[in-house]
Amino acid sequence: MQIKLHLVADLVLSSDITKEAEEILQQVVTESNTQHFLRGVPKDADPKEVGRITDWNVSGKVLNVTCESGSYTRVHDALFRFRKQIAAQLGRQRIGVRSIEISSFLLTLSGEDCSLLKIPKLPFLQVLSADTDEMVLSLDISATDCENKVPDRVIRLIEEKNAQDAYGGKTEHWELIFESETKKKYSTLDPTAEMVKRKWIKHGISRGQWCHGPQSVRLFRAFEQIVLTEIIRPLKFSEMIFPKVVPWDVWKRSGHCKGVYPEIYYVSTPKSRDPEYWEEVIDYYKVTGQVPIEMIRERIDGPIGGMCYAQCPPFWPFLQGETLANDCLPIRVFDRSGTSHRYESGGIHGIERVDEFHRIEILWLGTVEQTIKTADLLAEAYHHVFEDLLELEWRAARVTPWFMAQEGMVGTAETNGKGGNRIGTTDYEALLPYNDTWLEFQNVSINADKYPKGFNVKIQSGEECWSGCSGIGLERWTASFLAQKGLDYENWPEPVQKLAGEPVDVIKTL
Ligand code: ATP
Ligand code: ZN
Ligand code: MG
Repeated sequence: MQIKLHLVADLVLSSDITKEAEEILQQVVTESNTQHFLRGVPKDADPKEVGRITDWNVSGKVLNVTCESGSYTRVHDALFRFRKQIAAQLGRQRIGVRSIEISSFLLTLSGEDCSLLKIPKLPFLQVLSADTDEMVLSLDISATDCENKVPDRVIRLIEEKNAQDAYGGKTEHWELIFESETKKKYSTLDPTAEMVKRKWIKHGISRGQWCHGPQSVRLFRAFEQIVLTEIIRPLKFSEMIFPKVVPWDVWKRSGHCKGVYPEIYYVSTPKSRDPEYWEEVIDYYKVTGQVPIEMIRERIDGPIGGMCYAQCPPFWPFLQGETLANDCLPIRVFDRSGTSHRYESGGIHGIERVDEFHRIEILWLGTVEQTIKTADLLAEAYHHVFEDLLELEWRAARVTPWFMAQEGMVGTAETNGKGGNRIGTTDYEALLPYNDTWLEFQNVSINADKYPKGFNVKIQSGEECWSGCSGIGLERWTASFLAQKGLDYENWPEPVQKLAGEPVDVIKTL
């Protein structure tokens, strides 16, 4: 795709432009077109691709300029380079630039069937014309938007959208790295249905939500105990409590704002804490027995963000802007303080894909070597747990990193640089004999510098800071375990028997 840019702007100066000033301007225009705009441009670049001033005129205090460019020194960059030059040159005449008005910013796309191009819907982007050869778009933005590189991001987004289409068939990456022996199976039934039958669990009232009875929770806690004794204590992870309401600022830095919207449980807050402000709502409910959703909607702000989604992002403000002392690295922490919430796609039946779930999130950071080393130690510990304690039939696969998947990306991470081939996510999957599918029950990720960069975290030594995380889904562990071992205590491996105890029906109904 070729992109041509055309910009018209008024530079409002501090006083009328004199004949003398006009001569200086002519010189600045020439110098800009022949020198300043060529800075950083490859020598063999097509001159039509390079930003240049194609027209200018003055009237009173206003200097009107027209810029054109292709992909080098784009029109808005050219404009600001030009402003810098005239500020310096006209400064001597005591004339300054007061403000800049963008009167028109046009993008002309060509080089493919433009009638088929996918154009993002943005309030300030308008399609003026489109046929097979050419599409003309108009950007209604301010000089500040231009300085903030909005045009570059619009162009990148158009390129991305249309490149994605070109690789339409590309899916998430998946590559087997380990597969266990087959293990003896004690069940071919759906564990959720069996748990419901035995009244270990019951559907919650909210979508994709379960209330877990004592029998189910004892299994959760048994698994949690295994994680504590086999992984968390030997590898010296310290417990923290991460916040569970996540404001946009956190997801802006973690990258989730780039794509997570369809899966968020949104959080809103009251516009006022004053009971009087809510009196009508209260009265309406008292009289009708109906909760007046629309009246509530009028009285709330936000959404201010969402409920915990990926668990580790809200840890990072704890370190935001900090430099970490060498002697505390690697930092190893974990959180098990609350639920995660995702608006999953329809057809959620089992406990393994729910809107409200429980996860232990393990997180570590340090130098590149320390981060990779911790991931390797974790992988070893998990291997031991799944083989020797839970006796699962399981496998591990390298997949599209979760931090890319959640931004709507596919493929694998960048692999350049030190440790680059280790960046990414390993999914752990267990066989579900009842439907012969594999369930991802947890993962281990080396997230490279994604978070330290996003939250501006540095290391004293100046070495690159990396981090990793591993999400242990308790519903998924339970579903995997019960799918293979069944609900009968006598068929469970001894370590689980010991920790969970025999299920007891504490609550009995008639
Ligand atoms: P899936 O592809 O199965 O939806 P995911 O790739 O979205 O999983 P991650 O974002 O990697 O999952 O989340 C990390 C872990 O959190 C998972 O390995 C799993 O244990 C747990 N998890 C994620 N989504 C759910 C869910 N809807 N219900 C229960 N556990 C979940
Ligand atoms: Zn994480
Ligand atoms: Mg998912």
